[in-house]
Amino acid sequence: MKKIKVDLGERAYDILISAGITNSPIKELNDILGERKILTVTDTNVSEIYKLHISQIIDSEFSIFQAGEENKTLETMGKIYHDAVCAGLNRKSVITGFGGGVSGDIAGFAASSYMRGIDFVQIPTTLLAMVDSSVGGKTGVDLPEGKNLVGAFWQPQIVIIDTHFLQTLPKREILCGLAEIVKYAVIMDSDFFDLLEQNVDKLINLDLEFYEKIIAKCCELKAYVVKEDEKENGLRAILNYGHTFGHAIEKEANYGEIQHGEGVSIGMSIAADLAVNVRYMQKEDAIRQENLLKQLGLPTSYSNFQPEKLFENMSSDKKKQDSKTRLILPSQIGIASLLDYITKEDIISAIRGRKN
Ligand code: ADP
Ligand code: ZN
Repeated sequence: MKKIKVDLGERAYDILISAGITNSPIKELNDILGERKILTVTDTNVSEIYKLHISQIIDSEFSIFQAGEENKTLETMGKIYHDAVCAGLNRKSVITGFGGGVSGDIAGFAASSYMRGIDFVQIPTTLLAMVDSSVGGKTGVDLPEGKNLVGAFWQPQIVIIDTHFLQTLPKREILCGLAEIVKYAVIMDSDFFDLLEQNVDKLINLDLEFYEKIIAKCCELKAYVVKEDEKENGLRAILNYGHTFGHAIEKEANYGEIQHGEGVSIGMSIAADLAVNVRYMQKEDAIRQENLLKQLGLPTSYSNFQPEKLFENMSSDKKKQDSKTRLILPSQIGIASLLDYITKEDIISAIRGRKN
């Protein structure tokens, strides 16, 4: 078992990672839960496969919502509050988020606001949620006007990661997580990038022992960033590598046929080209990134969208702070920074270069 400490002072917590950790009672979890009332928030898919399984180690009521990002709404929140009241949850109770990023986001937001905030436990079941949402405390829901427009920073008491859950995850969802894993390596850790490059077969074949190792690495890297910048004022921006382009692509696809990780993979490809074009990064490094993404089976180009439209979408990304376009670009594998001097022409030209 691997244990990662997310060191946020009073809000510090542990992430426990192990294949099969949820097959028997988890002492660290039980120490936190005690005799308290628990409501587990999960979606219909995860509930169908794992409700019985998780019930064997957590004595909990359930609040189950229809699977799908389109249900990450205030309406679903209302249902969760209702279920919490019906289950008799009080200020001492606990909400568990059990599932992918959507379950984690809404369960965490419910925990942050029910009775002005109660304890939260996270059990992610997608690769993306394991490496991304289990560190950082971002919770929230979408509004009709845009994604993640309402939410809170709310840290869990503990995160339990069982890589066995990955065995039922659709391959496309695994790939989306892998895009985020490559992202960590490119922006922060060249040794980690080497390790991924040398073990593509283990990544593709879902070698769970290897996954335990790399999930732990990603949690460690993200924990470091979040510790330095919990509320996203500075360093934390590097985690957006590939995301400004990725979000623009996701938005153009109407959040449909392109998934988040796929958008990020194409976005990183555009960003790396841009870094090469403005002579910030060597071409060899961009090629290494490209090869790794391709070997894993991730997309590095797009076909259906107009480059100018993607640029327009970028400008309306809520992470943008003023009229300048700020972009995270790598200077080499393992190091990235926020640049604010890249011109519109350079950006559009890089976007254009990745259109099939
Ligand atoms: P993410 O944002 O982490 O990709 P979602 O909550 O959108 O997460 O989950 C993606 C999809 O995968 C959803 O349809 C969800 O029900 C399903 N899912 C989550 N975990 C598993 C799992 N371990 N096995 C099978 N399906 C899963
Ligand atoms: Zn992401």
